[in-house]
Amino acid sequence: MYPLVALLKSFHTLRWTPLQLALAACIFIILTCNAPLWQLILSQPYESLLQQMLFSLAFFTLMLAVFLLFLSLLSWPRLIKPVLVLLLLCAALVSHFMSSYGILIDKVMIQNLFETDMAETADLINVQLLVHLLLAGLLPALFLATRPIRPQRIINLLGQQLACVLACCVLLGLNAALFYKDYSSLFRNHREIRNLAVPSNFIYYTSRFLTGAYDATSRPFEQLGLDAVRKPPINNSNGKPDLTIVVLGETARSMNFALNGYPRNTTPELAQLPVISFRNVEACGTSTAVSVPCMFSLMTQASFDNAASHYQSNVLDILQRAGISLFWRDNNSGCKGVCSRIPHQSSDELGEQGCNQEECFDMQLLTGLEQWLHDVDGDAVVVLHQQGSHGPAYYKRVPEDARAFTPVCNSNQLQTCNQADIVNAYDNTIVYTDRLLAQVIRFLQNQGNQFNTAMVYISDHGESLGENNLYLHGMPWLLAPDEQKRVPLITWLSEDFQTTHGLDAECLDSRRSEPLNHDYLAHSLLGLMRVQTSVYEPTLDLFAPCTSSNMHLAQTSDNQGTPQDHSEG
Ligand SMILES: [Zn+2]
Repeated sequence: MYPLVALLKSFHTLRWTPLQLALAACIFIILTCNAPLWQLILSQPYESLLQQMLFSLAFFTLMLAVFLLFLSLLSWPRLIKPVLVLLLLCAALVSHFMSSYGILIDKVMIQNLFETDMAETADLINVQLLVHLLLAGLLPALFLATRPIRPQRIINLLGQQLACVLACCVLLGLNAALFYKDYSSLFRNHREIRNLAVPSNFIYYTSRFLTGAYDATSRPFEQLGLDAVRKPPINNSNGKPDLTIVVLGETARSMNFALNGYPRNTTPELAQLPVISFRNVEACGTSTAVSVPCMFSLMTQASFDNAASHYQSNVLDILQRAGISLFWRDNNSGCKGVCSRIPHQSSDELGEQGCNQEECFDMQLLTGLEQWLHDVDGDAVVVLHQQGSHGPAYYKRVPEDARAFTPVCNSNQLQTCNQADIVNAYDNTIVYTDRLLAQVIRFLQNQGNQFNTAMVYISDHGESLGENNLYLHGMPWLLAPDEQKRVPLITWLSEDFQTTHGLDAECLDSRRSEPLNHDYLAHSLLGLMRVQTSVYEPTLDLFAPCTSSNMHLAQTSDNQGTPQDHSEG
């Protein structure tokens, strides 16, 4: 017994060099915070078990060499402990979300993290997270933080750092010499490795996000659509101004709408209304932080630059410039900069009607809207930004009486619920969105005496509900499954709106299966509100081919294109 106690005692009083602490932290993080990465490495096709073991060992030394190279620069007595504590805590947090939800870390995911709010954060906290954080983050951090540091002369410290750098370079060289072929095919076939490897993934993408944000602050603001004016209505029959409500959905995926063919009746109210549901619409991104700026930007998805979009007029700025009154109401975590130059209001400014202790239900977005419209002079566009189907706590998004499907997953730990209960909880959020949209349409019908009214509903991105073991959203676009990319787009136009704008609903209805994407939103809003500007692109206006003037032109050019028909007729 005594030798063991003596050994423990001597270990406890052991004095560590900064590099030894860094080495211990690296080994711990590589082995405990990289489950998805090790799964990938071990599942590669190997010729034999020996080959698998050798390559796995080599990959371990590669990671160790890379991380130690970086940490050796920070291995100073006063610096190393805070660095390692921060690293261990972040690594534990990141690895929990990667393992639990199958998410990958990239610049957008880091941006989401910086732009999230308390309610969204609270939804993600659960016992599993706290236990993981304690075991993989806090306890090892506490252990390293309490180790006594061996006092050394600076020359010795520098000597150790140099030896460490040299050893790392030798390890990297050996890896390259012995396993070059394995690495080249691994990295070519699995580009996601840079998103998987903890801690390099969050260190790299956080620095890229922060430097990008820094670059953007020095940009001048680019005004677009300075020539924006309103065109007169096609049939000026009633003299009423126009009112369009844009409902900006959250995490709603197209395939779960009964209107789009989903076998469950998730859209009972909209089914009774003359709406048009476009069923083949692709999102610009797979997260709010990308999709929302992208859909209101005049840039297309192909040319979209998120940092630049914050320093450029968006479609709402241009509508406002054309003399239309704008208003953004938000029940989400904010408008991601899109509403900064127009009047806006968040749900906590809307009063407590329709809210519980934790959050407000989306129906609250209509509270007091009539009063605002009362004071509006002329045309108006209102954006209602929903909380929608934001996960993982889907069950919190709907009031009790809107639970059409039961039993529901009553937890934010999706892994602990069965698939059917998760889908029930999610589908209830679609049913509640259906109720909201029907209520918006009734609201607009009531405004029919004062305005020609229209509604456009579109979601920012979709959601994975366990398909291929993926949950939530935010996968890099190229790897993201359709569940995260396909979004609903639903329009409703009052009779008066159709008449004064010369819009043919039948023509619009015939377009419901055409491939569309978020690029269409900005230009369709310009077209819908009859705003003329040089930045308007009619080929990206959903409504343009169905307005009577354009339909007439199209018919004329069709006739001119078939001269033989004329001669025969
Ligand atoms: Zn979103």
